[in-house]
Amino acid sequence: MFHYPVRRGRLVNPFAMPDLGRSLSVLLMSAEVQKISFAFGSVIVLPEGFRAVAEGLAAGDISVKLEPTRLEKEKSDAEYDADANAFSFRSNWVLTRPEGRGTAVHEASHAVADWRGRSTSIRSEEGAAYLAEALYHLNAGSEDHAEVPDVVLEVAHAVRAQPGHVSLSASQINGIRRAMMEEGYENGFYANDGF
Ligand SMILES: [Zn+2]
Repeated sequence: MFHYPVRRGRLVNPFAMPDLGRSLSVLLMSAEVQKISFAFGSVIVLPEGFRAVAEGLAAGDISVKLEPTRLEKEKSDAEYDADANAFSFRSNWVLTRPEGRGTAVHEASHAVADWRGRSTSIRSEEGAAYLAEALYHLNAGSEDHAEVPDVVLEVAHAVRAQPGHVSLSASQINGIRRAMMEEGYENGFYANDGF
């Protein structure tokens, strides 16, 4: 016979699905994410931005949904849709793996850009999102799980060696933008209109 564990006098179902929105908020408020602070040209990624996204999740201004079929087809763990103000996840367990947490930080950086409410160059916003993902992995000690171009990881190490808010140099920005072009990102703009 199976006995459910009892914690603080309440029955705990060990098979219950984690609450993705809450888990994502906890990740965004963690020290590993709250240390991320840089300017990639006009794309500014600050701890306040991640906090605003966590608050947006708590307030229901940003929604979270599961889209296993579509995201499996796209081979993506997670996605943020700036029009719908919604995160999509491939499964309930994405945030239990370091790669999944890195992807979530990447997508949350797009939500930060949406919160700022300004259109951005696709290659700069993607470059900033990959850099945030790399910085998360360095802060969390999970660099081996970072799925980012080499140049992004190099710049992340350089950024992390400097204290406080770091403005990237023109050559760092150009190097990452070139990598984004090689990744297939177009030379257009993302429309961000807040959430
Ligand atoms: Zn992206």
